[in-house]
Amino acid sequence: MKQNSESTWDDRTIQQLVSYEALFKLIAEIQPLEDIKEISRQVAKQWKYFANVACFHLVVKKGEIFLVIDGFRGEADVTEVTSLTPWDAYHFESQLPCLIHMEDLQDNPAPPVHLMNKGIAEIEILPFLRLGICIGVINIAARHRPFDELDHKFNRIFSSHFTYRIYDILLRQQSINVLRDKATHDALTGLLNRGAIMERIDTVFKVSKRTKDSLSVILVDIDHFKKINDSYGHLVGDEVLRDVSRRLQAQTRDSDQLGRYGGEEFLFMLYPCSSDKVDIASERFRQAIADHPIILENGDPSGINVTISLGTATVRNSDPNIEALLKRADEALYYSKSSGRNRVTIG
Ligand code: GH3
Ligand code: MG
Ligand code: MG
Repeated sequence: MKQNSESTWDDRTIQQLVSYEALFKLIAEIQPLEDIKEISRQVAKQWKYFANVACFHLVVKKGEIFLVIDGFRGEADVTEVTSLTPWDAYHFESQLPCLIHMEDLQDNPAPPVHLMNKGIAEIEILPFLRLGICIGVINIAARHRPFDELDHKFNRIFSSHFTYRIYDILLRQQSINVLRDKATHDALTGLLNRGAIMERIDTVFKVSKRTKDSLSVILVDIDHFKKINDSYGHLVGDEVLRDVSRRLQAQTRDSDQLGRYGGEEFLFMLYPCSSDKVDIASERFRQAIADHPIILENGDPSGINVTISLGTATVRNSDPNIEALLKRADEALYYSKSSGRNRVTIG
């Protein structure tokens, strides 16, 4: 006998199909998004269309800290925390899925407040693991009635997709940050590398042309550094470079930048800083090195006397580019060297 398939579908089947469609629609919608806040907002808005969800609370590992996403009334709150609440810590450690009825809550640490609102029937908790390590835990609160079998199924499918998606975005962001950091910083001293400090000076050089605020640079070169290497060895030389970097960095202000320009050469960008101020700053840098010998762990207790020579330059209207500025700083540095070292020359 021929059946009309539409007429045989009952309301429950139709409801299930609608839920399936809403589930796949949300998965497809968040898939291309990279912005965690936007993904979370979409989830907070749409989860209720395929499962009986009132609100959720997701905690995902982000390196040493955690990202917490609270979805409630169609809005999402995304925050970073350095430590977990007792409730989250308990579920992160137990790594066990569970279903908590509201009357059982007395025996547990307190859940986030929005999961305890009136009308919440129960909380489903699902941990997610990668390589045996818990990378996220989600809490999903049921509205008015407990979750049925299909709700559970959809909650499992969707929260797994959601959690791993957020985790993968965080991982990618962290890798990009590590790469960016490696590409712009010097491995020995941790300072900006030559390319990065030059790029920043170039950017500010262009801005200074418009604002007319003065931009100054200072080239620094350690005096007789070859002798330090020859007398104490290359490894001690490296330690001296690190210590000099730390001291110079400690002297910089928030708006200033310091980079490693070459082997034992450093480059400061001071902005805003006019020619009459640059000598005060340079003298401060010179003293920060010359006034106290460098005392290294397991080294000579009387320390190593180190001095630096400095050459400055301040942007002039006639400077076509930063090379012109650096050339003047280099000439000033050369003058400091040839006139006895451990001194500042204003270029
Ligand atoms: P001056 O006062 O004229 O600047 O003399 P100097 O000895 O400092 O200058 P010179 O250019 O002759 O020597 C610089 C030395 O710095 C030579 C080089 O081996 C050393 N150097 C460069 N980069 C590093 C580094 O990363 N670690 C160590 N230990 N030494 C380095
Ligand atoms: Mg040099
Ligand atoms: Mg030198």
